[in-house]
Amino acid sequence: MEWKAERDALIDTVRAMNNLGINQGSSGNASIRIDSGYLITPSGVAYDDMRLEDIVKMSFDGSYENQDGRRKPSSEWRFHQDLLAARPDFDAILHTHGKAVMTLACHRREIPPFHYMIALAGGHTIRCADYATFGTQALSDNVVIAMEDRKACLMANHGLLVGEANLNNALSLAVEVETLCDTYWRALQLGDPVLLTSEQMDEVQEKFQKGYGIASS
Ligand code: 13P
Ligand code: ZN
Repeated sequence: MEWKAERDALIDTVRAMNNLGINQGSSGNASIRIDSGYLITPSGVAYDDMRLEDIVKMSFDGSYENQDGRRKPSSEWRFHQDLLAARPDFDAILHTHGKAVMTLACHRREIPPFHYMIALAGGHTIRCADYATFGTQALSDNVVIAMEDRKACLMANHGLLVGEANLNNALSLAVEVETLCDTYWRALQLGDPVLLTSEQMDEVQEKFQKGYGIASS
């Protein structure tokens, strides 16, 4: 079977999303870039039942094939495709319906710099993409805008989207953003939290860009 390791990694990742409590049921989806296009999870299949042959191979013209022809690509293939095309820095895209990200997305709230870890998503805020119906080109257009210079965004009245260099990084970032949204929501219970300044966030971003967690030689 072609791309066995990548298919395995996709299935491990979507199962981990549910096991980590940042998604549930067959909500959410994931994709990974390959030489000739990308692989994506099938639409509406329970992750525990998902087999290697259920993974759908897509081309950048939107055509697809899957081994036994029974599966359709995720209904959100458009935003996976458009982000992989627009962002050479992304080789993996993850979408989740976590409780905390959904809570804030339902208020269409941009997450401000209330905590320095917001910088992990690439900027001083985590934007919320404008609402459009799931699975539409309009939704894809909105998320590509919200992801400009960012690795994560909320999707209005929907959930979270993350783009990263690989699936492991994407999963870690999705856990971080879920945690940040949960914390922001809690912090709001006590009033408006104190926000970090632009200078303070620039300083954090600089430290992250220098390779936080990587020993300097
Ligand atoms: P799929 O099962 O088609 O990937 O849809 C899940 C989802 O989260 C839609 O936004
Ligand atoms: Zn969704």
